Amino acid sequence: MSQAFPNFVYLVAGVLFMYVLKGLSHPRKAVRANQLGAAGMTLAIVVTIAVAVSSPDIHGIGYVLIAAGIVIGSVIGATFAIRVPMTSMPQMVGLLNGFGGGASMMVASGDLIASGSHSTPFLAGSTMVAGLIGTVTFFGSLVAAGKLQELKWVPSGNVIPRQQLVNLSLTIVCFGLAAWAVYNPAVTIWVFWPMCLLAAVLGVLSTTPIGGADMPVVICLLNAYSGMAAAATGFVLNNNVLIIAGALVGSSGIILCQIMCKAMNRSLVNVLFGTLGPAEGSATADEVYAGKVKSASADEVAMLFDNARRVVIVPGYGLAVAQAQHAVRDLTNLLESRGVEVEFGIHPVAGRMPGHMNVLLAEANIPYEKVREMDDINPTFEQTDVAVVIGANDVVNPVARTDPKSPIAGMPILDVDKARTVVVVKRSLSPGFAGIPNPLFAADNTLMYFGDGKKAIVDLITAVKES
Ligand code: NDP
Repeated sequence: MSQAFPNFVYLVAGVLFMYVLKGLSHPRKAVRANQLGAAGMTLAIVVTIAVAVSSPDIHGIGYVLIAAGIVIGSVIGATFAIRVPMTSMPQMVGLLNGFGGGASMMVASGDLIASGSHSTPFLAGSTMVAGLIGTVTFFGSLVAAGKLQELKWVPSGNVIPRQQLVNLSLTIVCFGLAAWAVYNPAVTIWVFWPMCLLAAVLGVLSTTPIGGADMPVVICLLNAYSGMAAAATGFVLNNNVLIIAGALVGSSGIILCQIMCKAMNRSLVNVLFGTLGPAEGSATADEVYAGKVKSASADEVAMLFDNARRVVIVPGYGLAVAQAQHAVRDLTNLLESRGVEVEFGIHPVAGRMPGHMNVLLAEANIPYEKVREMDDINPTFEQTDVAVVIGANDVVNPVARTDPKSPIAGMPILDVDKARTVVVVKRSLSPGFAGIPNPLFAADNTLMYFGDGKKAIVDLITAVKES
């Protein structure tokens, strides 16, 4: 088959992938964008298989074996996608990144074995880069997914003395071996495997020390790595669509990392090498809460809505844990039927992955026009009668503004404390992801409505109907 037709199809697939990235930035267009992306990927796969099977270098792999691989992979992928709960999505994405990296490494190594060794510095360099990044991604992602799943046997923290120094040394040796292969392509077949072994150790050792709560940023970074490994493999195979898709995944992953770090007011270096936790000298939970917290029942909260004209609901990670989104939609409909204006305020890092809250609210068919971003909703809190915070903690913690020693110092927050009354729905006074107390819970205008997010909202709906 001539290369012109496959290249044209790859170009179409590449354009569709770019459209996906643009479309995913808005919830209204996200589903359609995803479908177009799937169509682009199907086009790319079909054409690649057609090219591969018609090629004389296919090394005995025919349609049957490829079809078997596609069926087995699709069944496993679909089963996971259907069964994995929303709160476990970060580890699922982590595993998928790992498989992407592992596949790139294996394809590059398969090509190396098939050709004996490489003849050009460019091919040797591409193979080494695909092997290095793919292996780091595979092993790093396995550790990250295991930590997020809280598997006890997955190593955590520094597991050997001077781990950062060892990691630096491993990185230098791996790049040294890659440089050697570029300088003398004939040695690629000999240095590739030791480099992959060292890269495997590097993948594990660079992920174990990262705090469990920082894992979502690391998952994003590993996602970017998997894209880079795929792009390098694209150069090895001379496959344009792999280069385009890999470059898009790599660059969008890096941009997403930057957005998340900015929203948390942390640098990537701090996420990778720092720790997150209560800073010395900051107020303890007892100092913040003792004697100041007021709790309210469902009936008391329902009474607040009697005179409210505007209510803003702020969801957080606890909404996902409680799966309270449908109950929240019912409460919204009930309040609106009584003439109350209801809107949602979304913080960019609420939950445990970017867009977590938007996905949950969309699942409950809450109209997009009611869902407003932080910068957009913040100026409206002063005109808000009741702000209802459901399972959110860090993203509404005012110490981000007041305590420069706090681990969330400088992080922009949702200004719920400026509303006339704040109702916080959560099970206890336990801290959130950052592990620090929240003075909002002890503020004069705050009422704590303790309970599981879903049950609390269902009880509140009953109380509003009876009031
Ligand atoms: P937090 O982690 O700060 O707080 C979640 C709160 O939910 C907890 O205090 C918990 O309190 C409560 N909760 C848990 N389960 C339930 C339940 N069943 N019903 C009611 N409440 C419940 O969440 P936020 O969304 O406010 O903040 C997200 C944090 O995650 C930020 O610090 C952010 O930096 C970080 N992060 C976010 C990322 C992202 O991409 N979104 C990525 C990386 C980090 P209790 O146990 O008392 O119920």
